[in-house]
Amino acid sequence: MSHAVGVAEVNNVEIRSGPCGVRAVYPLTSLLSHSCVPNARSIVGATFAGVIASVDVAQNQELSITYVPLHICSLLRRPQLKDNWYFDCRCRRCVDPTELGTFLDAIRCRKCPSGHLLPRELTWVCDRCPSTRSKESVQQLIGSLLDEKDSLDRSDLAAYLSFSNKAGRHLHQNHYILNACRRWILPLYCRVPANSEITNDMLKRKIDMSERYLYVLDRVEAGLTKNRGKCYAILASL
Ligand SMILES: [Zn+2]
Ligand SMILES: [Zn+2]
Repeated sequence: MSHAVGVAEVNNVEIRSGPCGVRAVYPLTSLLSHSCVPNARSIVGATFAGVIASVDVAQNQELSITYVPLHICSLLRRPQLKDNWYFDCRCRRCVDPTELGTFLDAIRCRKCPSGHLLPRELTWVCDRCPSTRSKESVQQLIGSLLDEKDSLDRSDLAAYLSFSNKAGRHLHQNHYILNACRRWILPLYCRVPANSEITNDMLKRKIDMSERYLYVLDRVEAGLTKNRGKCYAILASL
């Protein structure tokens, strides 16, 4: 009995959220392995479950899906995999401190002007100077910034922009937290009140922000994915 509960616990997917949420186990889709750079994605509805390729898949290449949101940085993503699915992910993204050149985890060095600290097991090391910082110290910084971000009013564009400026003093410009802000800021940017003027400067800022967000998505969430689709829809509406 406990084995059956364990199998259901690890393999279930949410098909309806909220107080009367529903979770289900689909035997075939549950067979798929996780990758933080998957080549497919699962589609789950109330009465069906399926898998579609998100990028071109070679003959005999293993299909993989993600068990966690892909835009999350390694510092937060890998513990989720460990806590919920009991494995240490060693995919090509997880073993690369730059996360495929995106620097989603990188924080600014306090000892040199252009360096960034990257994760090396339990210590974070600057890519330009010998400076280091403990993982606990980085976790504290990220935790406090996340708490602050989560306390923002989601309809308050000015608050998001102000927080992004502040967080940007500590984080690489592609850091997960700044991209999480861009996910909210971009749709807010597009809700321009009727009859208000859109200046060239505003337009340029929106395009720059969309392109920076897409730069990261192209590397960690390539192909036919929801987030890329939403971002292209925003760019098309500008
Ligand atoms: Zn991984
Ligand atoms: Zn440095």
